[in-house]
Amino acid sequence: MSESVLKTLVIYTIILVTAVALAVVLILIPAYVHYGESHIPGSYNAMYLSKYSPYKTIVVEIDYQPGMEPAPETVEALQQQIEMYSGKEVLIYLDQDIEDEEVPPVIYGDDLFKTTSMLQEQNRDHWTGWFGGNITLYILYLDTVWHPDDQDYSSHMPAASTNLYSVGVTYAADSIIIFKSSLPQNDIETTILLHELGHIWGFGHTNESGNIMNAEFEVYTNGPSPDDVVETQYPKEFGPAQKEELARLHETMHILPLFN
Ligand SMILES: [Zn+2]
Repeated sequence: MSESVLKTLVIYTIILVTAVALAVVLILIPAYVHYGESHIPGSYNAMYLSKYSPYKTIVVEIDYQPGMEPAPETVEALQQQIEMYSGKEVLIYLDQDIEDEEVPPVIYGDDLFKTTSMLQEQNRDHWTGWFGGNITLYILYLDTVWHPDDQDYSSHMPAASTNLYSVGVTYAADSIIIFKSSLPQNDIETTILLHELGHIWGFGHTNESGNIMNAEFEVYTNGPSPDDVVETQYPKEFGPAQKEELARLHETMHILPLFN
């Protein structure tokens, strides 16, 4: 083989390897992040929390049906918790753009996720950037009752429930549903939303009583007794081990789901 042919071969090989590497970095990894395993709750946790994340602003879009607006103190607590653990700017957009006709009064099992993708398609205004910029957390506040059937959603779609109904579910790496009309009339809403935020950040359920990631919330419509302080039933912050994990995620350099 002559020297010039060898040289050409080497040059072509370098070009090919560079092109493949570029494709991986510019197309395959972002595509994986957006469409792959990342739909599992928790797989965006370091992108939300790491100080090395290319996403500098967290945009929380809350779309709700008429009458289902989140409580102001719940929105405030959500913003405060995300800011505290991510160290990022948090912008919250509230939008009553879901029509009652779009949502069935009762939803069974997997039908929830068909309804949800339709609602997203028609109402969502903010999306996570391809390479950086904004990362979105999408929250739906719905006026419906969800019966999850007998299926086990514990690994992919954890649901918080009261002794009456499912009240919240995290169904993707960046998406939460709150069943506002299934919530009892007390201050449990903040706890439920922060519990779902815990799934977004990668936490599973715990049996530890009084921990925000316990999936079963004891509910008293008017308080256990008129003299009891109901607020003490519902934790509004994460436990010590969870706080430690959030601090670790903030320091992690591995922001892709692949390496968590
Ligand atoms: Zn849960």
